[in-house]
Amino acid sequence: MTTSDHAKTLKQIGHKKAKREKYEKHNKPKDRKFGESAKKCTRCGRTGAHISKYGLNLCRQCFRETAKELGFKKYS
Ligand SMILES: [Zn+2]
Repeated sequence: MTTSDHAKTLKQIGHKKAKREKYEKHNKPKDRKFGESAKKCTRCGRTGAHISKYGLNLCRQCFRETAKELGFKKYS
C-alpha cells in the first residue's frame, strides 16, 4: 500500500468509530500540496510517470491502455 490511498485500510476498519479516529490521527498520510505524491493517477493511484497534459491525470500505463478510447492516434 505505498501508492494507493489509505481509504483501503479505512474500509477494513469499517464502522468502528474509535478505531477509525485513532487510525486517522496516527496513520493518515499528509494532504500534500506539491511533490510526487500530490499527483496521482485517477485510474489506478500510481504516482510515477504522471501525465497531466490535456487534463488527463493518468499514469503512463493507464494512458497506454486507454489512449485509443480517448481518441489518440499512433503515427508509427
Ligand atoms: Zn494509472
